Amino acid sequence: MSTYLIKSAAILGGEPTDLVLRDGVVAEIGPGLDAAGGEVVDATGLVALPGLVDLHTHLREPGREDAETVETGTRAAAMGGFTAVHAMANTEPVADTAGVVEQVWRLGREAGHCDVYPVGAVTVGLQGERLAELGAMADSAARVRVFSDDGKCVWDPVLMRRALEYVKAFDGVVAQHAQEPRLTEGAQMNEGELSGRLGLAGWPAVAEEAVIARDCLLAAHVGSRLHVCHVSTAGSVEIVRDAKRKGWDVTAEVCPHHLLLTDELAATYDPIYKVNPPLRTAADVAALRAGLADGTIDIVATDHAPHPHEDKDCEWAAAAFGMLGLETALSIVQETMVDPGLLDWAGVAERMSHAPARIGRVAEHGQRLEVGCPANLVLYDPAVRRVVDPAGSVSLSRNTPYAGRELPGRVVATFLRGVPTVLNGALVR
Ligand SMILES: [Zn+2]
Repeated sequence: MSTYLIKSAAILGGEPTDLVLRDGVVAEIGPGLDAAGGEVVDATGLVALPGLVDLHTHLREPGREDAETVETGTRAAAMGGFTAVHAMANTEPVADTAGVVEQVWRLGREAGHCDVYPVGAVTVGLQGERLAELGAMADSAARVRVFSDDGKCVWDPVLMRRALEYVKAFDGVVAQHAQEPRLTEGAQMNEGELSGRLGLAGWPAVAEEAVIARDCLLAAHVGSRLHVCHVSTAGSVEIVRDAKRKGWDVTAEVCPHHLLLTDELAATYDPIYKVNPPLRTAADVAALRAGLADGTIDIVATDHAPHPHEDKDCEWAAAAFGMLGLETALSIVQETMVDPGLLDWAGVAERMSHAPARIGRVAEHGQRLEVGCPANLVLYDPAVRRVVDPAGSVSLSRNTPYAGRELPGRVVATFLRGVPTVLNGALVR
C-alpha cells in the first residue's frame, strides 16, 4: 500500500508536525520525519482534523438519480473533508428493508470516495403506520444503527415508543425529524411577523419543540437513546439542554445553514432558501451557536439535500425543501463558530468527527489522530477565502444557498484509510 508523508500539519490547530500514513493507518507523528520513498504532501499552514463524519446526508439513490447518486454525493463529501456519511432512508424505494440498505452500502463501497452508512427507515415506506424491519437492517451487511423517517416525523407516540424500545437490542438510535404535522400543514417558512408580511404560511417553532419535548420524555421513559435531527429554534436548544441536565440519553444536531442564514432571506422569494426545518430568526441563530459551543448540541450535520433545477427553480410554494451542504460545511462552521472564537479546532473535530461517529456507532471513523489510528483525515486551509460558484460543485445538483458568497477556508486534502480521495483541492479520481 501507499505511503504518504505529510509535512508541517497543525493537528487540531496545534504546533506543526509531520505524519506518516502507511498501510491505512497513521504510522508515525513527530517533527522531521523521513518520507522513506513515500509521497510528500506539504501541509504548511494547514490544519489537520480527523476525517469528518456526517450523520445526515441525502444521497438520493436509489430512485432520484437525477438529483444525486451515491457516486456523486460521496465525491461531494470527500471534497468537503468527510470520510464517512450516513445516507438517509427517504429514497425510492425507501430504505426500510435489509435489501435496500445493503444496496446503498454496496454502492458506497464501489464508489470508494468515503464510507457510506445507510440509515434505516423507522416505519414501512415512511408511512408512519407500522415499524420497518429494524432488526433485519441491523443484522444486515450494512449493520444499520441509525434509524430515521427523516423528511417525515414519526408522529405517532406509540410507534415512536416501540421504535425506541426496539433499537435498544442492538444499541441503535432513533433520529427524529421533529415536525408536528398538523401544526405545519402547508407551512412554507418560519412563522412570524415576516411570514405574515410575505403571505407565506408560517411554520411555528412550537411544531418542532413540542415533538422534541415529547420524544425526550419518551426516551427517558423507556431508557433508550434519542437523536434529534436539525434543531432550528432557541426553544429546542433549551429543551435539549434540560434533557441533558436530567441525565437523559439525548443528542442533537444543527445544520450549517441554521448557524448562518435567517428567515429574512425568504423576502427574496428565492426557493434556494426554502428548507425543512425553515431558516429561523437571528435570535435562534445566536442560540444555536451558543448551544453548539457549550455542547448542548452535540454535532454539526449537513442535511445535504440535492434537488434538480426543475424542483427548485419555480415559485416558492411549489419548490422542494432542502439545500446542498457537504462541500461548504467546514467553511460555514469556521465562519460561524471558529472565527468568532466560539469553538477551537479541537471543538470542531469533536462536533464534526468524534461525536457523530459515536452517535452512529461507527468504530472505523472519528478516532483521535494518534499513531495507530485509521488514516482518515482532512487537511484544511483556514487562511484562504473563496467565492462559492455552484458550477464548481461536484454534486449532481446546484442548489447551494451560498452562490456568490465569500466563505473562509478550503479543504486541500482528504485521506481515507491512508489513500487520498482529494489532493490539492481536487478529486483524485
Ligand atoms: Zn429532516
